Amino acid sequence: MPTKKTKKTEQLREKLSREPSRVWDKLSDAEKDEVFRYAEGYRAFLNSGRTERRCVSEFVRLASAKGFVDLDSAGRKKNRLFRVLRGKLLIMAVPGRRPLTDGVRLITSHVDCPRLDLKPNPLYEDTDLALLKTHYYGGVKKYQWVARSLAVVGTVVLGDGRTVDVEIGLKDDEPIFTIPDLLPHFARKQMEKKANEFIPAENLNAVFGGLPYPDKDATDRVKLAVLELLNSRYGITEEDFTSAELQFVPAEPARDSGVDRSLIAGYGQDDRVCAYTSFTGIMEATRPEYAAIAVFYDKEEIGSEGNTGAQSRYLEMFLMDLMELTGTPPTTHNLNKVLMRGKAISADVNAAFDPTYADVFEKRNACRMGYGVTIEKYTGHGGKYMASDAHAEYAGWIRGLFNKHGILWQTGGFGKVDEGGGGTVAKYLAKTGMDIIDVGPPLLGMHSPVEVTAKEDVWMCHRAFAVFFGS
Ligand code: MN
Ligand code: MN
Repeated sequence: MPTKKTKKTEQLREKLSREPSRVWDKLSDAEKDEVFRYAEGYRAFLNSGRTERRCVSEFVRLASAKGFVDLDSAGRKKNRLFRVLRGKLLIMAVPGRRPLTDGVRLITSHVDCPRLDLKPNPLYEDTDLALLKTHYYGGVKKYQWVARSLAVVGTVVLGDGRTVDVEIGLKDDEPIFTIPDLLPHFARKQMEKKANEFIPAENLNAVFGGLPYPDKDATDRVKLAVLELLNSRYGITEEDFTSAELQFVPAEPARDSGVDRSLIAGYGQDDRVCAYTSFTGIMEATRPEYAAIAVFYDKEEIGSEGNTGAQSRYLEMFLMDLMELTGTPPTTHNLNKVLMRGKAISADVNAAFDPTYADVFEKRNACRMGYGVTIEKYTGHGGKYMASDAHAEYAGWIRGLFNKHGILWQTGGFGKVDEGGGGTVAKYLAKTGMDIIDVGPPLLGMHSPVEVTAKEDVWMCHRAFAVFFGS
């Protein structure tokens, strides 16, 4: 029996201090079932969306089936809208009961992921093997991409303007590709090098074929045979590689992980986990008070550059068109109102505390697997350089919203000060004047070919985004 004194202490502690809660401890049996059911859809999405283009087309397919229409052909059906830019940037919108100039509820995520792109002139033959030269995209540890199964996926624009989609290595009966590593027997010098040097970028060459063209007098017979095969199957010539976007991605599918199946292990969860959870969030939005807008950006992993990245002006153009469609004069003055009164979430993953590498984390502020979504007030590095630092008022509003709706959340950070660091699209959106804060699930193994999420965090993320769109 606790004494009266300890009971009072406990009450005080409960009242004044905060400990994050394990999501699993707070769920009903029905909700636990829902966590696992939701993960099925998420895992299926990871496996169909291996590139930014595929993510966008998959979202468009799913959204169209539920009544979303292209903004440009909306006509009188204006209640569920989307628009795609260049196959890679998707914006979805559900207009609210209030006019857009009262502000919007906007969630951004990104659908591009670290990978190996093919170079514009990738195919060559050396010592009777056909090989493809690659150029890594985003922050990768290059050694993680050798000695593993890879699939090649993407789009080729042919000389006559036709577009061909290529996807080899994702199905069980298809061939896969690999970048062979040096055998340990010969690797004495390699093993003495630093980890960022022992696989030079120019060594990321994938074996693509091995059989020669029948004419024994020909040169580069394997390359010729590969070209002939590609031409007969896809109509591709060597020059077509210069107008192609082909990527090597991990071939193996995302799968349940852990003996209790509590986790999902697979490629591309930064940031397709937030893309999927914000997508399912906006799919649930019906006549919200404020317009719900979900933006799925490209190019985040290389600095949000280009016309499909978050530094582009496309969101503003979209909002102007949305204003016109929903009866608000699309003036710059009105656009500024939409943006300045907007509330936004930069939905991106956070680095989960990894006990094996405890020394790089600041434990009191790092997020933990299974404790719900993270709220990260600021990103950046060093003295908060390059940070988007959400205002206390807005952080308070988000916290209050989540608390009111039973969303389990924790704080997130990006490693020890002066050691870690990172950023999201938040700082680019903040330039428009809107309030924005980072929210997303904890992730283990970020940017590796096998990233890991906890299913209850993924589900909590979905709920948090649905609540936000409805706020
Ligand atoms: Mn990310
Ligand atoms: Mn990333």
